[in-house]
Amino acid sequence: MSYNPSPLWRRGGGEERVHSNLSNKSFRSQTWFLTLLCSTLSGCMGIPAGQESAVVTRAQMQMGTLVKITAVARSESVAQAAATAGFAEIRRLEELLSTWIPTSELSRVNASAGVMPVHVSPETLTVVQRAIQVAEMTDGGFNIAIGPAVDAWRVTESQRIPTESELEALRPLVDLMSVHVDVREQTIYLGKAGMRIDVGGIGKGYAADQAVEALRRAGAVAGVVALSGDIKTFGRLPGGKMFPVGIQHPRKDGSVLAWIDLQDEAISTAGDYERFFEREGVRYHHILDPRTLQPARSCQSVTVIAREGIWADGLDTGIFVMGAETGMQLVEALPDVEAIIVDDEGLVHVSSGLRDRIRKP
Ligand code: ADP
Ligand code: MG
Repeated sequence: MSYNPSPLWRRGGGEERVHSNLSNKSFRSQTWFLTLLCSTLSGCMGIPAGQESAVVTRAQMQMGTLVKITAVARSESVAQAAATAGFAEIRRLEELLSTWIPTSELSRVNASAGVMPVHVSPETLTVVQRAIQVAEMTDGGFNIAIGPAVDAWRVTESQRIPTESELEALRPLVDLMSVHVDVREQTIYLGKAGMRIDVGGIGKGYAADQAVEALRRAGAVAGVVALSGDIKTFGRLPGGKMFPVGIQHPRKDGSVLAWIDLQDEAISTAGDYERFFEREGVRYHHILDPRTLQPARSCQSVTVIAREGIWADGLDTGIFVMGAETGMQLVEALPDVEAIIVDDEGLVHVSSGLRDRIRKP
């Protein structure tokens, strides 16, 4: 049995410096490809004299996951300040979006379900609006009203399988049509008591985007923000190389399925190997099919590449529910979106725009 004890959106502790090899095994499956990225970067630390740039990589626990930020800047102090600004931005968003923080905006929206609309920040409004768009694109595969079912499963905590009647009782609450966003009033209202929205499937991608903007504002010329498997890159490494990212094999812990180089792109993976438990040979994981309220069965992992992390993250979860065939049709129809989908039998599907870009390990 494999079990990852770190739930989404739970607040984390202190900061660590990342060296070229992470020794903490419990983080390995989530951060393996980042480890390799860091070892590449540490090779860049010795930038030739005269070429003024510095690369700083730091990590800390935020949003219930290991966040790594790499900043490239003209000096060490600017790179450090940029990384600090990136972490501060993620912390700020966590205070708005985490449902583990009772005073967050989303917690207040959830607590007011069936009672009244709640005024929210532009950031919270953006995440919820994008989530509704992703729901439309993925035919309801993505659904942030899934909150009550996520709580019933609590895959990473209780390892308990809810009964059919329990899930049946929650079904009316998983109702995206009852999520009312009023852009003019800047409010969100959940129409039924007991409803809860959960942005765990899209919020980390958004946080990566916003942290990259914070890095830029602080003077970084390039960098990477990685919240576990939700990664946003900008610019290039000193020396002109793009940022190499390895995509985790869903059934071989620590093995890379494929390599890809990114520049000004985001990549995000949803996998059934990230948070799961097994019972009598059946795998129960954290991505739920909104129709059945059971763990989605049609994929092992979905990796999406897009310009922005918010799309990559939202789409990976939605496509995971849709399955390889319709999911890939959607990807092919979207400009600037590519995907690698590992279906339920382990077959790897690669979108047309990626075939010449990926490298086998
Ligand atoms: P992670 O990268 O952290 O594993 P994912 O992008 O794979 O996150 O999204 C999984 C999370 O999204 C779950 O933990 C849950 O909070 C939420 N979720 C689960 N099923 C759905 C769904 N069908 N639609 C939207 N969000 C979902
Ligand atoms: Mg996602």
